[in-house]
Amino acid sequence: MISNAQIHFNDSGTPVADNFDDVYFSNDDGLAESNYVFFEQNGLHERFKSHPRKHFVVAETGFGTGLNFLNTWARFKQSAHNNSVERLYFMSFEKFPIKLSDLKQALEAWPTLAPLSKQLCEQYPMALQGCHRLEFNQGRVVLDLWFGDVQNSLPQIAYQRKGIVDAWYLDGFAPSKNPDMWQQTLFDSMAHLSQENATFATFTAAGFVRRGLQSAGFECKKVKGYGRKREMVVGTLIATTEHATTPQYYQQDAATLSQVAVIGGGIASSCLKYHLAKRGIKTHLFCEDDALAKGASHNLQGAVYPNLQSEYGIPSEFYAHSFLYARRFYEQLIKAGHVFDHQWCGVLLQSVNDSKKAQHEKLAASKVFPEQLIRSVDSVEAQSISSIDTPYGGLFIEQGGWVSPVQLTKSVFDAAESLTPGENHFAIHIEQLERKPDGWYLTSNKQTFGPYSDVFVCAGEHSDRFEQTKDIGIHGVRGQVSHIHEGVASSKLSTLLCHKGYFTPSQDGLHCMGATFEKHSKSRAVTEQDNVTNRQQLAGFYEGTEFDKSLGSIDSAKAAVRCCFNDHTPMIGQVQDKSDLLQAYDNIKRGKFYDFTPQVMPHKGLHIATGFGARGLCTAPLVTEHLVASLFQEPLPFSERVHEALHPARLTIRDMIRNKI
Ligand code: SAM
Repeated sequence: MISNAQIHFNDSGTPVADNFDDVYFSNDDGLAESNYVFFEQNGLHERFKSHPRKHFVVAETGFGTGLNFLNTWARFKQSAHNNSVERLYFMSFEKFPIKLSDLKQALEAWPTLAPLSKQLCEQYPMALQGCHRLEFNQGRVVLDLWFGDVQNSLPQIAYQRKGIVDAWYLDGFAPSKNPDMWQQTLFDSMAHLSQENATFATFTAAGFVRRGLQSAGFECKKVKGYGRKREMVVGTLIATTEHATTPQYYQQDAATLSQVAVIGGGIASSCLKYHLAKRGIKTHLFCEDDALAKGASHNLQGAVYPNLQSEYGIPSEFYAHSFLYARRFYEQLIKAGHVFDHQWCGVLLQSVNDSKKAQHEKLAASKVFPEQLIRSVDSVEAQSISSIDTPYGGLFIEQGGWVSPVQLTKSVFDAAESLTPGENHFAIHIEQLERKPDGWYLTSNKQTFGPYSDVFVCAGEHSDRFEQTKDIGIHGVRGQVSHIHEGVASSKLSTLLCHKGYFTPSQDGLHCMGATFEKHSKSRAVTEQDNVTNRQQLAGFYEGTEFDKSLGSIDSAKAAVRCCFNDHTPMIGQVQDKSDLLQAYDNIKRGKFYDFTPQVMPHKGLHIATGFGARGLCTAPLVTEHLVASLFQEPLPFSERVHEALHPARLTIRDMIRNKI
């Protein structure tokens, strides 16, 4: 669990960390110091004009009050008309995040930064470990806030051979006050993560820091320090290391993305289209229905909340960060004027039986998550939160709620269109994909479209329809949601209830009650029996309550197919050919994780983004952002272990490791 910083403000108004007994920045003029030491001494003004890539990556040890970030953003913005760099990535590591109220107070000292500080404070995340991706200026400025000790966070970052960082801000309290951070392991990790010609700047001139950086591969020199400080140190990486956290079989090739087709029309396709559009990529969308969101995204109300466990393992990390990103993303859409029905009314996970109760108690006792994300409630508090006579306590996810999936999908789609208009084709059923020397061709029963450099199959349960994707291993789980008339007591419900299924606050006089669970079925037909099952399940838990007694009759229902993989995790990336994987990575079966044959990649340029199950509203925004970032070889928002869990080669590679194939 992450602890917030304990701070006070000294007589000059500068924040001071109590446990380090050191200031966050100079008492003299922190902003001028930040600009001189970090921005200027890394030569960023010039480098923004002539950088070889469209994105530039700064990494910082110690986010503190965010002053260095805000100054860098302000300077990047000021020179935007002259920059060759289009997108600024700022990765910052923070072991003790300061509380939002302290952040606001600290940033009041810089009126020139006020418009940017306000935006930072609006998105500033809760103290949950891991990477929080915050986006500003429609994705032109991206802040990856890694909460946790920098020594633990750096090895979690997913990167391939070349490294990702262009400039380091080596901040952190004075080495004498914070010796644990200033270690050789930190300097070595900096070198591993660096791009060619990466630079660093640090306020300290301590000899052991300079020698450590030299030994990691940086050429170092002393320069004049800020203000009264005599010296500080700057340097450049001489040679990149071959180090990578991502093994070869889980790497993702860069894509050209010169002509892009997306097949699908649900929340995942819209999010994918949005993340491409914000990077200036136009998409050609093909949807077999006559409108968006007619498949799994078509329910009246869709719950948005993370699926958390009592350990901070891969699923918890994946869901918690996906959820927090989705909330920020949806909030930004609302701010930009997009309208979709929603209610951030919280989600109450009810301890309806002994096994749920034990599960909930274990999670609460684990203290893995901040209470702001999930907290334990007894039945009295549950009644006050829900405004109904529920007999159960449980867990409360205050920031959860529901959205209209159809309207949301449309809003995300419209937002993408407003950034980079695309060509959108509805009621076209693509039957076949073919790769020719000049690219991919898509064929319907009437017409052929193409060539495309890249095709994304985002078609939910139909994603395995094509010859190239038929073996991806997806299966459908049919679910029916019933719409039931509200009664006097049920109409008061003021949060979303989760028992075994879920039950929403009423909208237009109806509650959504669901959902059934029928494996290996792709039927969207509504059945009367499923309505009975949904009603009986609810009554089984709430029988005798005024809430249950007040409910009216079932009005209607919708059935959809959740598409899943066996490991319940979505899949994103280039479509893999099983025989190609088996041949290239044959050595894995012999226990050797090296000496691989190059892959042939028969499906180069063909990508999938599917398997969101019933949780696309929570996970699709960040999962598709991760995919697009990987194709641009940018910093990735998910850690290495989550990256591997999402990779299309994972099922085959796992079987090879276990010697099952
Ligand atoms: N760059 C900051 C700014 O612009 O406000 C000031 C940074 S302050 C001098 C140093 C920061 O490093 C503190 O916020 C502290 O909590 C953080 N820190 C110290 N040790 C750390 C570690 N091992 N890992 C991550 N952050 C650490």
